[in-house]
Amino acid sequence: MNERLPILNIWVDPVSREEAKARVCGFLEQGTRPHAIFAANPEKNFSVPADAELYDCYRQADLLLPDGIGVVLAARLLHGARLQRLPGSEFIFDICRLAENGCHSIFVYGAREEVSRNSVARLQQRYPGLRIAGRANGFVPQEEMPRLIEQINTSGASILFLALGSPRQEKWFAAHKNALTTVRVVQGIGGTLDTIAGTVQRAPEFWCRHNLEWFYRLAKEPKRIKRQKVLPVFALLVLKRWLGMRLSGPVSRSGGTG
Ligand code: UDP
Repeated sequence: MNERLPILNIWVDPVSREEAKARVCGFLEQGTRPHAIFAANPEKNFSVPADAELYDCYRQADLLLPDGIGVVLAARLLHGARLQRLPGSEFIFDICRLAENGCHSIFVYGAREEVSRNSVARLQQRYPGLRIAGRANGFVPQEEMPRLIEQINTSGASILFLALGSPRQEKWFAAHKNALTTVRVVQGIGGTLDTIAGTVQRAPEFWCRHNLEWFYRLAKEPKRIKRQKVLPVFALLVLKRWLGMRLSGPVSRSGGTG
């Protein structure tokens, strides 16, 4: 397995889509505990180190996907790594296909009730052989959490999609991973159920192909500027690090669980 790459304050696994799928198969077939899959993108470079609990979740994650183009470009500049972007919002479909073929069932937890219901129906339509063991909306009160954990465990699901948004989903995983008895793969999918249900539009093919999905989303939802204003700062910090490396030799590869 290729070594995890540090990208400023976070890390990314230099995996192709096929390698990421092979990792998931390994987790499902040989795993004895839940394995966490989260997304690495420029926004996370700032949110993750600002929150000790979130930082630990990322440091201990089993697979950090090259979700954002910024991370892909930074990996190229800082490590000479030629990564392909693998957005978490697409990888969910790869996992569904693996689940369908390998008869692994899925539990979907997160999003508003209507979004949860509609997205699960759409997944079922798209993958007729997929076994959806259960679902719950993302607004389960804290006192009902033990019952939700029991529901997930008795469903026998081996895959759990967590759609609570970040950092809620990572913290949920950290708090409850030891109580999950059958789940072997957990993917944090943020707002992806909203796009599957059609409540939020994903960027059309053209924008995705040219790595401009971030711009399309910004134009559609200008309030995202608060989150996306970190992008130029990220680019500047990467350039600064690159320049530093050119002047004083390569950066050391530290951090992450590898
Ligand atoms: N959400 C949830 N429970 C909550 C708060 C939010 O399930 O208590 C859901 C929300 O309905 C939405 C998702 O979490 O579907 C957050 O989407 P967003 O795009 O903000 O997350 P990101 O992908 O940026 O992490």
